Amino acid sequence: KDVAGEVTKVDGGPQDDNAGAAPLVVVENVNKHFGELHVLKNINLTVNRGEVVVIIGPSGSGKSTLCRSINRLEPIDDGRILVDGEELPKEGKELARHRADVGMVFQSFNLFAHKTILENVTLGPIKVRKVGKQEAEKHAMELLDRVGIASQAQKYPAQLSGGQQQRVAIARSLAMKPKVMLFDEPTSALDPEMVNEVLDVMTELARDGMTMIVVTHEMGFARRAAQKVVFMADGQIVEENTPDEFFTNARTDRAKDFLSKIL
Ligand code: ADP
Ligand code: MG
Repeated sequence: KDVAGEVTKVDGGPQDDNAGAAPLVVVENVNKHFGELHVLKNINLTVNRGEVVVIIGPSGSGKSTLCRSINRLEPIDDGRILVDGEELPKEGKELARHRADVGMVFQSFNLFAHKTILENVTLGPIKVRKVGKQEAEKHAMELLDRVGIASQAQKYPAQLSGGQQQRVAIARSLAMKPKVMLFDEPTSALDPEMVNEVLDVMTELARDGMTMIVVTHEMGFARRAAQKVVFMADGQIVEENTPDEFFTNARTDRAKDFLSKIL
């Protein structure tokens, strides 16, 4: 039942004390350009174990680029990004292994169209984590059950609704036993009636102790699940606060202006 909890075990006894205290993700003085465009401007961000951080901000402010940098889908110009105390290697086999520590769920679900739901979830563990087929399938079924899709395991992605496909995408990421999960606007491509079924799965994941970085404009989710809201604008982190403080008492005009448009 408690599969994600088992994956992310936050306090595993006395010998884990040190590991528990160190932040899980550290972004340190990170800069990135796309040509002339300074897209990430000296970003500093710390995410503790079991913490849920929501990143919000106007379109084009660098939220996706930051997420993509954290699992090295985008190279950074300077600064450091540490996951569980280790800098992600630049390339090679090591990178694939480290990247598997950082689960990522995108706006578009990107499931493999010609593989069943079950195969979508077992593929990564079998190929990258070198898990046996039987074990991978057992774990996959537990995860599919957790996101409420177990009965659809033999179907193909096109036979599922958008909300169901996104829940499969979450299960697929969890199957790699990531240390942290990144969500980049996971509900913004969904029909409104499917948004909550995905947010509910994410909320439960958060409750079970998963460390999460979530780009979303879903304020309800932020208030319910996040410990910290980070407001980005123009490639910078402009404000960082608790959801309550941020939504009721934003400090900067930029944030107030943004909130007035989305609330
Ligand atoms: P957000 O997710 O906050 O909307 P992005 O990180 O997607 O912002 O984009 C930040 C800025 O970087 C935007 O101005 C965008 O046009 C630009 N950008 C993003 N990806 C690329 C790329 N691969 N090449 C050039 N410019 C890019
Ligand atoms: Mg984006």
